[in-house]
Amino acid sequence: MEEKFLADSMLGRLAKWLRVLGYDTVYLRAHGSGSIEDIIREGRFFLSREKKLEYVYNNTIIIDADCVGDQLTELKEKMSLLPDRSHWFTMCLICNTFLKNADPDEARNNVPEYVFYSNLSEIRFCPSCIRYYWQGSHRKRMARQIEEWGFV
Ligand SMILES: [Zn+2]
Repeated sequence: MEEKFLADSMLGRLAKWLRVLGYDTVYLRAHGSGSIEDIIREGRFFLSREKKLEYVYNNTIIIDADCVGDQLTELKEKMSLLPDRSHWFTMCLICNTFLKNADPDEARNNVPEYVFYSNLSEIRFCPSCIRYYWQGSHRKRMARQIEEWGFV
């Protein structure tokens, strides 16, 4: 997706769900002064719950909602985001790296057998932290959740 984000330490769940939706999102665990500006300069929107930061940093979006579903809706409205289902589940949820299609021989050794044989073309992996991802009940639950939030 075109938009990239930097989420502050109070928006960890939002950061995770933005990755699920295919948005490149850096999560800031602790504020180190200066680093926020550097990361925004990479072309990211800064998502924060601290109203006072709105005028401190460029491209800052203040998130008022408390629940992650409402936060997504708020962000979608404030930025006129155009969600695209084809981008869902394309990023590593742990380290924010774009996933690649797994080589079948590699995948065979790294996922449970039943997954390998039922998801042959759907197995992806993170080239950075070497985690494997596939279509399963967990992903279906997340997709349903996104639909319930109306982020489609
Ligand atoms: Zn990763």
